[in-house]
Amino acid sequence: MRWAGFPFARRLDGWAGVRDNRVLMHSVSVAEIERSIRNVPDFPKPGIQFKDITPVLADGRLFRGAMDHLLAGVEAGAIDKVVGIDARGFIFGAAAAARLDCGFVPVRKKGKLPWETHEQSYDLEYGSATVAIHTDAVKEGERVLVLDDLLATGGTAAATLALLEKVGAKIVGMRFLIELAFLQGRERLGRHPIQSLITY
Ligand code: AMP
Repeated sequence: MRWAGFPFARRLDGWAGVRDNRVLMHSVSVAEIERSIRNVPDFPKPGIQFKDITPVLADGRLFRGAMDHLLAGVEAGAIDKVVGIDARGFIFGAAAAARLDCGFVPVRKKGKLPWETHEQSYDLEYGSATVAIHTDAVKEGERVLVLDDLLATGGTAAATLALLEKVGAKIVGMRFLIELAFLQGRERLGRHPIQSLITY
């Protein structure tokens, strides 16, 4: 079956469907997704409560539900490129781009992209890190949705925004599966529309 504005949508069990070009279906509750996220204390170093999303990815129903929620209200045709942030942002970003029938662009850690890049450094608790984007990955004025698994201090996302400014992208929004709100990362992301599914 082909539905207007969303040619690849198929009706699946427990899937409410797509109406008015919008992804509306929520066959899985946010609470159920939240329950499946595993908290791993002291990983990768003492004091960090690591939010392990692999149980969500490993369950097709939960993964699809997470994508439903992440893309809620996003109109197919309203986004030119989904930008995913290294590394778990690639998983959600690529799935989103395939659903929205638009391009996917990776923002990677420095040294991984083979072509000409823009780079942006940002401070970490100890030291700094650098992210990069291909100079030709996003054209000036293209409408971009940024996805990542988790917003913590906001350093990575802010550096990603700086890269997208360099290429002249129009930021439609930034969406995260998880936000560690106590770290106040969103305050570093300016006035862009920022949404997260699960907040700690
Ligand atoms: P930040 O730049 O501080 O906002 O960190 C965001 C990036 O680090 C995201 O790409 C996350 O994948 C990762 N990250 C930071 N803190 C955690 C955490 N507690 N659990 C899992 N991933 C995290």
